[in-house]
Amino acid sequence: MTNTQLGGFVAELADLMALDGAGRRRVSHYRRAAMVIRRFDHSLAELIETGADLSRVPGIGKGLAGYLGDLVRDGASPRLERYRGRVPPGLPGVLRLDGVGVTRARVLWHAGIDSVEKLGNALANGELRGLHGFGPAVLSRVQRGLAAMAALSGKSLLSEAGRAAEKLVTSLRGAGLVVEVAGELQRRLEIVATVDIVCGAESEEVWAEADNCPGVTLGSRQGSNPIEVSLDGVRSRLWAVPPGVIGAVVHHLTGPPAYLEALADRARGMGLELTPAGLDGAGEASGTESTIYAALGLPWIPPELRNDATTLARADHGLPRLVERGDIKGDLHMHTTWSDGAATVRRMVQAAADRAYRYLAITDHSPSTGVVAGLEAAGLRAQAAEIARVQEDYPDIRILRGCEVDILPDGTLDLDDEILSELDVVLASVHSVFAMTAARMTDRIIRAMENPFVDVLCHPTGRKLGRRDSYPVDVREILHAARRLDVAVEVNGGPRRLDLDHRGLCLCGELGVRVVVSSDAHSVTRLDNVNYGVDQARRGWLQSSQIVNTGTLGEVSGWIGRRRR
Ligand SMILES: [Zn+2]
Ligand SMILES: [Zn+2]
Repeated sequence: MTNTQLGGFVAELADLMALDGAGRRRVSHYRRAAMVIRRFDHSLAELIETGADLSRVPGIGKGLAGYLGDLVRDGASPRLERYRGRVPPGLPGVLRLDGVGVTRARVLWHAGIDSVEKLGNALANGELRGLHGFGPAVLSRVQRGLAAMAALSGKSLLSEAGRAAEKLVTSLRGAGLVVEVAGELQRRLEIVATVDIVCGAESEEVWAEADNCPGVTLGSRQGSNPIEVSLDGVRSRLWAVPPGVIGAVVHHLTGPPAYLEALADRARGMGLELTPAGLDGAGEASGTESTIYAALGLPWIPPELRNDATTLARADHGLPRLVERGDIKGDLHMHTTWSDGAATVRRMVQAAADRAYRYLAITDHSPSTGVVAGLEAAGLRAQAAEIARVQEDYPDIRILRGCEVDILPDGTLDLDDEILSELDVVLASVHSVFAMTAARMTDRIIRAMENPFVDVLCHPTGRKLGRRDSYPVDVREILHAARRLDVAVEVNGGPRRLDLDHRGLCLCGELGVRVVVSSDAHSVTRLDNVNYGVDQARRGWLQSSQIVNTGTLGEVSGWIGRRRR
């Protein structure tokens, strides 16, 4: 059993206990424990099997150690079953919705609304009006939450789709097959409806090899190609094609249709025909992407840019060299055990050094975040001493002192200028109080950016995929202000955030707004979330020169010092 699964069981227990009416303190202990477990570095199941005493792991404690032991040894827990018996099965799902906490979920339950589906119906039928705690602001928040949930329903986050596909692709390649990823995953969409995997081999061989891969469930095979596949629950299709046309098929499946149509139009104008197997009439070697584009007089267009006819119009004027993962020289947004991160400063620094970064910023939360205990000025100064000690041991990587400061509802910051002036880099974020008009939210954020110590505006729209849409905000106006004030905006690589999205990033490129690509890592492994940020920056047509943290340490320090003189 993985730590993610174990953390999931602890989170489920916390939800059930809360819905059942358990005390706030116990529940929040369990919720924190779930986070600790998910981010734990070693396999807890292995530790349990070797007889280690988990009750001594900070954040777990005695009660949970027994629970985890039951789960690992028996795959079940009497305690969990007891709670499952007390709470309607659909009710914990309601808790996932933005705007519905435990109190409101219990109100719904008493009103007979005990699943997301019933909640959607009740909302549509106006049955929530008058229910305690469901004023107009909450109702519209719930509505947006339902929409966000529906957008992800049956689909996968890019990170989940990518991990699932990689497992199968690695397994098939290990068997000697030629395998490519196509479709939405190849275009790096933030939400993937279907993963497409294409093999250049006989179908029977492909199906047989896929069947051997753990976590793979093959759909009906009778005469169909592709076959439907579930990869660890991620909806996928597996295609078997002749090896000679795999490049063209991958291109075709990568689409999207509007883009392929525009490309087919162009081919027709040249007396050629674009088919799923390549270009007809363009001679022998028209079965690969590069030959297709060459025959059409176009540069090869990276999948992340493929959208519709406008892509081709832009490509005719030449393509930028899009930013790549290798261009990123440091990460300016991460958390440690000083706030809600799982790893110490030292471990985050080591992990950044392992990724050959030249610099990193430690940016724990300020106090107001609400969910976690953030750092006051005194805490930040104490952290500075630790950073200085770690810095001595890592001469090749520069540790920047930073903070992710909350933007309060009136646009002021959660820490005063005196402490901010001591930091190397200041990030500003909205983490709470989303219920305001777009005009007020926009003013709030711009006011925060006007503080001369703010360097980066983080996750500017506040969306969380599958949970909540963006808060109402005028992104264009924010970006104009960012340009005027020379504040960078972030593309946050957290798979649920990916905020700004590609449209906002395109606008950054047009307006000349600097962008920071960051991981917002709360653990060592999540530093790699920066990759998803790079994907979205590429979808936004951004080049390395437009991104702050592709710069050298000297360049970044120079930029950070720009407004503080
Ligand atoms: Zn944040
Ligand atoms: Zn953060």
